[in-house]
Amino acid sequence: MNIEPTKIKIKCSCSGCNNQSSYTIVNKKFVFDGNFYLCEDCLKQLYSMMGKILIPKSPQPIYKKRSKDE
Ligand SMILES: [Zn+2]
Repeated sequence: MNIEPTKIKIKCSCSGCNNQSSYTIVNKKFVFDGNFYLCEDCLKQLYSMMGKILIPKSPQPIYKKRSKDE
């Protein structure tokens, strides 16, 4: 899977969205076997959706790590 800027003039793949696509998700393994076009708004929506599912591990505080090394 790869994401790259859309080079062609095409509409966003999300239903009900009429924005121009800004990014293309290239993935041959997708059920529709093709590219998925996303405008910036939908990409952001997708990202926040993923963020809710994929909860990142709480990052280690940098200052704690540093004080240990020094
Ligand atoms: Zn869109």
